[in-house]
Amino acid sequence: MNLTFSFFSISKTILLAGCLFCVQAMAQNNALSLKKIDQNVYAIFGQLGDRSAENLGNNANFGFIITADGIVLIDSGASFQGAQAIHSLIKTVSEQPVIYVINTGGQDHRWLGNDYFSRLGAKIIASKAATKDHTTRANSQIERLTSAIGEANIKDTKPKFADIQFDRSYSLQVAATQIEIIHAGSAHTPGDSIVWLPQSKTAFSGDIVYTQRLLGIISVSNSKSWVNAFEALKNLEPGIVIPGHGKTTDLASAIKDTYRYLTTLREKTRDFMDAGNGIESISAISQDEFSYLKNYDILKGRNAQKVFEELEWE
Ligand SMILES: [Zn+2]
Repeated sequence: MNLTFSFFSISKTILLAGCLFCVQAMAQNNALSLKKIDQNVYAIFGQLGDRSAENLGNNANFGFIITADGIVLIDSGASFQGAQAIHSLIKTVSEQPVIYVINTGGQDHRWLGNDYFSRLGAKIIASKAATKDHTTRANSQIERLTSAIGEANIKDTKPKFADIQFDRSYSLQVAATQIEIIHAGSAHTPGDSIVWLPQSKTAFSGDIVYTQRLLGIISVSNSKSWVNAFEALKNLEPGIVIPGHGKTTDLASAIKDTYRYLTTLREKTRDFMDAGNGIESISAISQDEFSYLKNYDILKGRNAQKVFEELEWE
């Protein structure tokens, strides 16, 4: 009896210790997962759904490159806490400091963690167009995030704008790694950039590419220029594409889930308008062939509306 009791107590203690460890590991991950892409290149994948207290607003993909001189991070997370969660994952594979942060776009999860890494000594790099977008939308993004992820998860978050700003492209050589940052025009947001690693033919596309889930054409997006930005990515002939949202992919799948969606929706909307239809009957445009993508029901109507409004001015 005594023996059984002790055994039970010990198992309970082990179980409890195990669980505590679980909770801690989960807290550090905050719904992010890490994948090695190449010898020194890693991608971090966020959830495909909405911003939440669990994901700290990091419902997007990130990445980092480890060099002999330090780490180059691609996108800093949606808040101070979100940046911490990304840093925790980085520390599971390298103790090197983060010395550069590249912001690939203007959405909150691309840049609101800048201040966290800046305090640790990192230099922030973004296109001029992205920086302008950050400046314009900082307050509204923080407001929106506060209701999406909760006040406790966004406290200490302060906007920090890029230290290094560029017009169309920026070359960064860090130790033996060559990194090209290319802003080929407005796409999902006005300042979207591709981070291109020529040595491994790997592209971190930011929000120029979405896979698995439907892309969102939002108020600051430009679908026409987005098509051109995608073509700039195509011209690089990447072997691996790490999209802004969704799993690692190749160019063919990126074309299927993003490029074909943009071009098809633009074509269909143009025909719809030419036939004399108004925006009030926009839901008549069929987008069924893309219904396999997550978030399809939530976003398809808004996307068509936005494209309609754009085409009125083209
Ligand atoms: Zn995004």
